[in-house]
Amino acid sequence: MEKRNLETICIQGGWKPKKGEPRVLPIYQSTTFKYDTSDQMGRLFDLEDSGYFYTRLQNPTNDAVASKIAELEGGVGAMLTSSGQAANFYAILNICKEGDHIVSSAPIYGGTFNLFAVTMKKMGIDFTFIDPDASEEEISKAFKPNTKGLFAETLSNPSLVVLDIEKFAKIAHSHGVPLIIDNTFATPINCRPFEWGADIVTHSTTKYMDGHAMAVGGCIVDSGNFDWDAHADKFPGLTTPDASYHGIIYTQKFGKGAYITKATVQLMRDLGSIPSPQNAFLLNVGLETLHLRVQRHCENAQKVAEYLAANDKIAWVNYSGLKDNKYYELAQKYMPNGSCGVISFGLKGGRDASIEFMDKLKMIAIVTHVADARTSVLHPASHTHRQLTEEQLIEAGVQPDLIRLSVGIENVNDIIADIEQALNN
Ligand SMILES: *Cc1c(COP(=O)(O)O)cnc(C)c1O
Repeated sequence: MEKRNLETICIQGGWKPKKGEPRVLPIYQSTTFKYDTSDQMGRLFDLEDSGYFYTRLQNPTNDAVASKIAELEGGVGAMLTSSGQAANFYAILNICKEGDHIVSSAPIYGGTFNLFAVTMKKMGIDFTFIDPDASEEEISKAFKPNTKGLFAETLSNPSLVVLDIEKFAKIAHSHGVPLIIDNTFATPINCRPFEWGADIVTHSTTKYMDGHAMAVGGCIVDSGNFDWDAHADKFPGLTTPDASYHGIIYTQKFGKGAYITKATVQLMRDLGSIPSPQNAFLLNVGLETLHLRVQRHCENAQKVAEYLAANDKIAWVNYSGLKDNKYYELAQKYMPNGSCGVISFGLKGGRDASIEFMDKLKMIAIVTHVADARTSVLHPASHTHRQLTEEQLIEAGVQPDLIRLSVGIENVNDIIADIEQALNN
């Protein structure tokens, strides 16, 4: 496919109508698909032909949206999931079994931390959490013979650590494992991790991609770049016969698409966390304006961050667009057009003052959401990260007074006015 600009892919990617077909992506609200002969259908079950037969495996609406996201990220293929949680779970389960190990950045989304540290641990997959700012040597010490991957977020939610993706890719590859990046906050508009050496990208499409807080969803994108056969002993699920498909070997049959094909035809077949075609349709509507919205989110967030930084009631502000931010340089390298619309900050009065401030906001709503069109606010220590101990909170980069402000795409003066009245009343 010719290489197109991101703005064009947002609009034109995915659905490609043929003569007389609907111009707009149709919602294929059908569980099943019809065939003329038994043999035609049989060949699909053997992966000898490709085609639709049951929506749990593939659906034309879902696939069109997945292919738009794959093109935005510059990958060879993608699979939609019913949530971001399912995306991260499958991304790892696709290369791990009981007894395996993953090295993960510690500052990550609270839900992902629980998934890894509690639920997947119970399944026998072990995680070591590391400080993403540590040196290559330090991070390398966490690797073991049974390590199957390195995981991190481009921009961590909610602590906004900017990842040195090249450093992480180098570490992962020196240990013969893929780098898996959750690119939810940056979106491919601001950062495309494959260009810096990442192998697999995941998304909670619930956030900026949907952008209107309408549909929970996720996505896994495969760069096609990781050479599974070169590390065949580590990844038997991809490089040895799959008994559930008459012994096919994914890397032999699907080449660069081995990983994402296995995720679809094996994990999705067996575990079934698919989005409804209706939700995929809504996601596609969101994607059509992603480039415009992300730009406005970043412009507004920059102005709000500068306002907060200059206000004497504010103890600290974390936004990588501020010149004195610890991650300013890294953000300039990986996200020169802006990072995201999320800012974190604390009030001089500490935890109690932060909570009081939030209760006084009028337009800006307290919601368990980030990264949609409406400005919203959340106190992670009381909400999303409530399950974590004080120690785990600090490890996840969440100070007890941290307020997560998700700057929307309203007029920025109205956003600042609401913050100002809540600070002064
Ligand atoms: C929200 C989020 C998730 C989880 O996604 P859901 O769609 O809520 O399941 C995973 N990673 C990051 C970075 C997130 O912000």
